[in-house]
Amino acid sequence: MKLKKTQVCIVGSGPSGLLLSQLLHNAGISSIIVDRQSRERIQARVRAGVLEWGSVDALDEAGVGRRMHRDGLPHDGFDLIFDDDLHRIDVKALTGKQVMVYGQTELTIELIARRLEQGCEIIFSAQDVQPIDVESDRPKVRYTKIGEMVEIECDYVAGCDGFHGAARQAIPSRVLKTFERIYPFGWLGVLVEQPPVSDELIYASHERGFALCSMRSQTRSRYYVQCPLSDTVEDWSDQRFWDELALRVGADVAGKLRTGDSIEKSIAPLRSFVAEPMRYGNLFLAGDAAHIVPPTGAKGLNLAISDIRILWRALIEHYKKANDTWLDRYSEICLKRVWKVERFSWFMSTMLHQFPEFSGFEKRMQRAEFDHIVGSETASRSLAENYVGLPLEM
Ligand SMILES: Cc1cc2nc3c(=O)[nH]c(=O)nc-3n(C[C@H](O)[C@H](O)[C@H](O)COP(=O)(O)OP(=O)(O)OC[C@H]3O[C@@H](n4cnc5c(N)ncnc54)[C@H](O)[C@@H]3O)c2cc1C
Repeated sequence: MKLKKTQVCIVGSGPSGLLLSQLLHNAGISSIIVDRQSRERIQARVRAGVLEWGSVDALDEAGVGRRMHRDGLPHDGFDLIFDDDLHRIDVKALTGKQVMVYGQTELTIELIARRLEQGCEIIFSAQDVQPIDVESDRPKVRYTKIGEMVEIECDYVAGCDGFHGAARQAIPSRVLKTFERIYPFGWLGVLVEQPPVSDELIYASHERGFALCSMRSQTRSRYYVQCPLSDTVEDWSDQRFWDELALRVGADVAGKLRTGDSIEKSIAPLRSFVAEPMRYGNLFLAGDAAHIVPPTGAKGLNLAISDIRILWRALIEHYKKANDTWLDRYSEICLKRVWKVERFSWFMSTMLHQFPEFSGFEKRMQRAEFDHIVGSETASRSLAENYVGLPLEM
C-alpha cells in the first residue's frame, strides 16, 4: 500500500472541494483532492448558474474571479410570472446588491486548471474512496487507483463529495440525523446556443407546470420546464420542449424566444435534504454532501460556497492562531444558515410548481403568495434579500 501525507484531504473536486483547496493554498496550507470521476466528466457537468454577491467575493478572495468578471453577467433583478401576470423583483433597488450569472462548469474548469498549475495533487478516477479513522487525530482517506491501494494521512478530512458521496457514510447512523423532502416532479433542462429571451431570469408558474428562463452567457441560454419524474429525455424532442416552454411563459415572452437545437438536455429530480451534524470527529461535510436544495431560487452552489468560507476561516484560525473555537462551532454555524436557505428554496418551489396532490385550497394559497409579493414592498424585499444571499454570521 502506498502512503501520502497532507494537512487537509479533500474528498470531491466539485466547486466546494476545489475552492477550499484554493483558499487553503493561498494561506500556505496543503491539501490533496480525491475524486472518483475523470477530469473530463467533471468538466462536462452542466449545473448551477447564479452566484450571490457573497460567492462572487469568495471567488475574488480566492484569486479566481478574473474570468467571472470578464464573462459573467451582473443582474439587478428577475421576473416572476404567475398565470401570465408578470412582476419584476428589483433586487438592486430592494437590497442594494446584485447577483452574477456565471456557469458552474466554467468555474470548475478554471479552478481545476489553477490548482493543477499550482502543483496541487488532484487524484481523478479514484475507486473505493473512503474516509477512515475520522474520530482519531490522524484521519485518512483510502482509495484504489489502477489496482493499487493508497492511504492519505492528514489532520482533517473535508467531505465535499456531493449527495451520493462516501464522506457522509463515514458518520455512524447513531450520530447522523437526516431530514428530507422529495418533490413529486423533476426539471427538464435544455442548453442552447442562442441569446437569452430576456436580460434577466424569468421564473414562471403556469397551470401546465413551472418554467425557468435562464442563461449562461449572452449567447448561451438555459431553459427548464417542470416534468413528471417518470419522463425520460427521449420523451422530449427539442420541438416538444420549445412548444411547452412557450405555453408556460405566456405569449409576450414566447414571442421573443430564440429556439434551436439543444446542446445538452437532462432531467434532475428535486429534493430538500439536510444532514446533521456537519462535523464528526475530524471529518467536516460541506456543500451537497451535507445538504440539497431544490434549484428554485438558485441556492445549491451558493450554499456550498458559504460552507467553504466558514470552514476555511475555521481552518485558518486553527493553523495560524491555534484557535479551535470556529472548528468546534462549524456545524452549528453552517446549519443555522443552511436551514434558512432550505426554507427559502422550499418556499419558492412550493409557490411556483404544480403539485399533483394540491387541491383548490393550496392553489389559491400559491396565488395569494404571489399577490402578497406583488402588493407588498416588505414581502418583495424579503424575497430579494434571500435571493442575493443571507449574510454569513460567524
Ligand atoms: C443536475 C443538477 C443541476 C443543478 N442545477 C443547479 C442550478 O441550476 N442552480 C443551483 O444553484 N444549483 C444547481 N445544482 C446544485 C449545484 O450544482 C450543487 O449544489 C453544487 O454542485 C454543489 O457543489 P459540491 O462541490 O458540494 O458538490 P458536487 O458539485 O456534486 O461535487 C462533488 C464531487 O465529488 C465527487 N464524488 C462523488 N462521490 C465521490 C466519492 N465517493 N469519492 C470521491 N469523489 C466523489 C463527484 O465526482 C464531484 O466531482 C444542480 C445540481 C445537479 C446535480
